[in-house]
Amino acid sequence: MLKNPSNLSFRGAAGDEESRKSFVSRARFLASLGMAAITKVFQYPARGLHLWIIGAAIMGCLLLALGSAARFLLRTELPSRSLRSMGGLATVTVGAGYSERVDPLTAQVRGIFERVEQELSTYRSDSAISLLAEKAGVDPVAFSEDAWRVLKLALRFDELSDGASDVTVAPLVKLWGFGRTPASASLPSEEAIREQLKFVDYRRVILKDRTAFLPVKGMAVDLGGIAKGYAVDRAFDFCRSVGVENFLIDLSGNIRVSGRPQWGKKWQIGVRNPFDRSSIIGKIAMRSGLALATSGSYERFVEVMGQRYSHIINPRTGFPVTGTAGVTVLCGDATTADGLSTSLFVVGLKGCSKLLQKAPPADVLIVPDKYPIEIWLTRGFAEVFVPIPDLSNAVRILTPTSL
Ligand code: FAD
Ligand code: MG
Repeated sequence: MLKNPSNLSFRGAAGDEESRKSFVSRARFLASLGMAAITKVFQYPARGLHLWIIGAAIMGCLLLALGSAARFLLRTELPSRSLRSMGGLATVTVGAGYSERVDPLTAQVRGIFERVEQELSTYRSDSAISLLAEKAGVDPVAFSEDAWRVLKLALRFDELSDGASDVTVAPLVKLWGFGRTPASASLPSEEAIREQLKFVDYRRVILKDRTAFLPVKGMAVDLGGIAKGYAVDRAFDFCRSVGVENFLIDLSGNIRVSGRPQWGKKWQIGVRNPFDRSSIIGKIAMRSGLALATSGSYERFVEVMGQRYSHIINPRTGFPVTGTAGVTVLCGDATTADGLSTSLFVVGLKGCSKLLQKAPPADVLIVPDKYPIEIWLTRGFAEVFVPIPDLSNAVRILTPTSL
């Protein structure tokens, strides 16, 4: 198990045993100094200058003790464990009062992620989703309750977005080199794209009694745009069910939080700058229970002759989406956040108002692919988002009439 968390650093909760001990001993020392000074005042009820000096010493000790406490609370890293899952890095972070539970909790979360992966990974030839493609045009395939739910939810987003997201986009994802087979050095030909486009249409997926059937050989399903969010929700439900209240789960940018990192604080999440992965464009203070997902052209891409092509494909054209650099969705569950972020990435700034009116309640941040950077936010997002000072002028409010 990796011990250092991935790309996010959360600060501000009760920390590990060593820093706790060092804080306690420092505070004890300063408190004893203060007590000694107070004792002196009572032993020798000095007047005038003496009293001022002793008073100042007491105040000094108290300020030092407070400073030490503040440093302890602000600087301590939260107990956090990282693991590899679904081709990326996942992190389980626990807040105040749960440090001793971080290891068993991470082991359980790992199991939950593995079960989702086992059924829904297009990278595994023995998964139900790979079997579905193998049996296309031949037989229906039975799904577990979990896998069935993810498939139905994904198809719902396909419907809501009028096919901007489309689970049957799998043959094109593969053609562009985002599947098990790596990308080739040249772009796919227009003819090859046209050929694969024939297999793309979510409306042709037949669902019946917890089985799915793809009627044409060559069709396949890719749940990469939603399954990580679903896995995060299952892990979230598990953590709460075993009585852990303060935690954060992050599966490659699909995040859900519970409670708070420490008393009086909220979980803070940085939104990555889509044009520079090493920096953030701002931070969000997350309310307990909320989820956040980001779809970015920078997350996965192939580079052919200096040009980048993103892993999110427009099912109408067969080409990777252009015009959007990043979409972040904030809402009540991670499945919706993940599904919606992928769909919104395809429809972009122009189509987002229409989709948001039909979709479950959510707030979004959209960064179009243009320079200088613009950060478009719905009002709800603007209430919790603090841009970095350099970008405060880049923020625009997204309303149905603002586009
Ligand atoms: P999102 O924006 O949430 O989704 C983008 C993904 O959705 C694309 O990568 C593609 O898979 C799919 N997609 C593209 N266009 C559309 C569209 N128009 N409509 C709907 N969906 C679309 N990666 C590995 O390298 N190795 C692995 O072993 C591996 N295993 C995985 C197992 C599972 C169960 C899952 C869910 C993912 C796995 N991945 C693996 C990662 C996967 O290939 C994608 O890169 C990842 O899901 C993208 O997620 P995201 O949150 O970054 O982007
Ligand atoms: Mg997504």
